[in-house]
Amino acid sequence: MRSEMENDILKVLVTEEEIKARIAEMGDALYEKFQGKDPLFLSVLKGSFVFMADLVRACQLKSDVEFIAVSSYENATVSSGRVKINHDIQQDITGRHLIIVEDILDSGNTLAFLRDYFKAKGAASITIVTLLDKPSRRTKAVTADLAGFVVPDEFVVGYGLDYCQQYRNMPYIGVLKPEVYSK
Ligand code: 5GP
Ligand code: MG
Repeated sequence: MRSEMENDILKVLVTEEEIKARIAEMGDALYEKFQGKDPLFLSVLKGSFVFMADLVRACQLKSDVEFIAVSSYENATVSSGRVKINHDIQQDITGRHLIIVEDILDSGNTLAFLRDYFKAKGAASITIVTLLDKPSRRTKAVTADLAGFVVPDEFVVGYGLDYCQQYRNMPYIGVLKPEVYSK
């Protein structure tokens, strides 16, 4: 039976199986890079919470986790590019190897801000890992060190990503039907 949420999906961009397989590869790549370095996985809330949970389990390194919540100051006409921290991390990261875990790299505002913020706090290294990359929309000079999938310039939901706080619990990445936006 189709779920309540599935009825709102126009198309699936990345399936559950594709996500799982790609995260296994990403976990291996991070394992190779960070063996013996005790990295800190930093999840950017809320969007990356699902990806974070799967990624850390796909990478059996000695490591710990942190969470930061941010939002951008924007209005309908101008994206200021300023980012606000709503919940900061709870430890000193001086000298730590930081792995920033994001759901999607879009304009680059969020990750440009976080990279500079943690550089200023004395991280030993900063690695940007994103599940999705939408390079067509980039306005800041940020590239992911590791990206799961490149997606076209469409608004996507699922696997942590929301529309009006919903669809985060869909197990795959999809695009909503146009009528969902006019509800
Ligand atoms: P930025 O523009 O700063 O690179 O991305 C900011 C945030 O916008 C992302 O972390 C994500 O939460 C949100 N975002 C960007 N593109 C999409 C999208 O296609 N779908 C959803 N649900 N969120 C997006
Ligand atoms: Mg996000």
